[in-house]
Amino acid sequence: MARKRKLDLDKYKKKLLEKQAEIADNVKRLEGESSGRDRLSREVAKQDFEGGGDAALQAMTRSQSAAMISNLRDMLIGIDEALEKIEDGTYGVCEVCGKNIPKKRLEALPEATMCTKCRTEVGPR
Ligand SMILES: [Zn+2]
Repeated sequence: MARKRKLDLDKYKKKLLEKQAEIADNVKRLEGESSGRDRLSREVAKQDFEGGGDAALQAMTRSQSAAMISNLRDMLIGIDEALEKIEDGTYGVCEVCGKNIPKKRLEALPEATMCTKCRTEVGPR
């Protein structure tokens, strides 16, 4: 196990909460926009395909924003986990190998729960 080190938890907590609010806003915006975007893509499709590509284009834009929303939701889950770790006192320790996650990595990605090496080996969740 890694030695206990002193992290400025308040700083990371603040970062995480800010990021959480920002992402939640984006999800709300994307969900609200999807009806408007469908309308727009129908108009574009009408011009470009005279009807034929309409459904395909609509399905594409819809699934793109759905994929984006699901990515953002995954990020929110990661942020929740990191916030729980701050409460538990396990924040900043790699879930896989138990080593300290470098501060530089936490600065760039405050929701990181694995060190760079383990993240590379495990791959994206
Ligand atoms: Zn690790």
